[in-house]
Amino acid sequence: MQHFPIFLDLADRPVVIAGNGAFALAKMRLLSKTQARLALYAPVPEADLESAAAELAVPLHRRSVEAADLSGAALAYAAHGEAAADARLAGLARAAGVIVNVVDNLEASDFITPAIVDRDPVTIAIGTEGAAPVLARKIKADLEATLPVTLGPLARAGKLFRPHAEALPQGRARRDFWADYYFNTGPLVLAEAGEELLDHALHALLDQHLNAATEPGRVDLVGAGPGDPELMTLKARRLLDGADVVIHDHLVPAAILELARREAIFVGVGKIGFAPSTPQEDINAAMIEHAQAGHRVVRLKGGDASVFGRLDEETEALSAAGIDWSVTPGITAASAAAASIGASLTRRGRNSDLRLLTAHDVSGFADHDWRALARPGAVAAIYMGKRAARFVQGRLLMHGADGQTPVTLVENVSRPDQRIVTSRLDQLPQDIAEAAFAGPVITLFGLAPARAAAVLPALIEEFA
Ligand code: SAH
Repeated sequence: MQHFPIFLDLADRPVVIAGNGAFALAKMRLLSKTQARLALYAPVPEADLESAAAELAVPLHRRSVEAADLSGAALAYAAHGEAAADARLAGLARAAGVIVNVVDNLEASDFITPAIVDRDPVTIAIGTEGAAPVLARKIKADLEATLPVTLGPLARAGKLFRPHAEALPQGRARRDFWADYYFNTGPLVLAEAGEELLDHALHALLDQHLNAATEPGRVDLVGAGPGDPELMTLKARRLLDGADVVIHDHLVPAAILELARREAIFVGVGKIGFAPSTPQEDINAAMIEHAQAGHRVVRLKGGDASVFGRLDEETEALSAAGIDWSVTPGITAASAAAASIGASLTRRGRNSDLRLLTAHDVSGFADHDWRALARPGAVAAIYMGKRAARFVQGRLLMHGADGQTPVTLVENVSRPDQRIVTSRLDQLPQDIAEAAFAGPVITLFGLAPARAAAVLPALIEEFA
């Protein structure tokens, strides 16, 4: 992000526009929506500009801008559409310590003006770092079409009411009040009774919220899916959106955590195989402590919360502490990995059962019904299997599995850095060593990709 978006208070602050024609006119019209003290400098103004300045009551100075005109200005706009005059203004502005925008010249500007969707006081600024004005215009048009025009009146009444809402305790109680106003009561009152009654409705709503007993805290254990935010359930999104506290494992990527409110408290409780990790008791204690403080806690787990996620240990601890909880399922790594290779986890005539297994458990490498797994057509998704490959291979071969059985390894399933490695049972440890995986890997035993290799590497090779 080269340009940082901020909203600047221009009330009563001088803003200088120097230039002529359509450029100066557009900037003057835009800035006259603010409460800035505008001044327009145009030695020989075009007729349109002159009449617009009169209409908007912007003082028009029929001369070139001088150094003194810039002192104390908040912003300066060079809108001559002519390089020498623009450069002169930019020089004067910088000498006076005023940041300057040269219209249609990104390199010469200190700041840029975004595309704006105006539902004052709700203002949306869209920027593309000058990369794609077409894209910015499209996003603006889409937003204009989706945002109700009533947003303005709702937000204006809400803004005036803010001091009253301070009667509610800061945090969830206040947020719930505002959510109720903006998404339920407000739009209803506006549609049925009109803007004048919004203030009355706000007072009534506040009383209602003040009287409501403050809800006790709770914990929702939520499966975040394999990493792609689009593979989350709507319910997971909604719960994350309402969370005061998010307790997440390392498998949950930043792209998903970013969907939570910025003010939420984030607690990372990494559990990385063979590396230092947060003891389960500490995770339980953190959940209980936050819920007892009245917070809405989301315990966010990679994939599905009930697959190798120590879910029961957490729910039992919560029940023992008398805390209300629920579980929201997610897409487990096995499902996402099968999708990534276009293969089916079960198939008529091949396998009528599917095993989700972990290659190691609390006491080391995990034992399984190897004989059943060694049968032709058996399919298993092996979690946490990187280091146990040689052990798994040995057990399966010992029980008569075919060395040619296909094995597909998928690293970072559904993430931008997803990698698919095809192997066979008799080559598994070597192929894993060669792949030097750094991210989480799921092993699909008995499955080969349905599509010949991945499409992307083929494309890249073609253009290399
Ligand atoms: N609850 C999770 C599994 C947790 S155990 C789920 O349902 O997916 C951790 C193991 O899951 C990792 O060692 C890896 O084998 C697998 N895994 C989880 N997310 C993965 C991903 N995005 N890509 C590949 N494997 C993943």
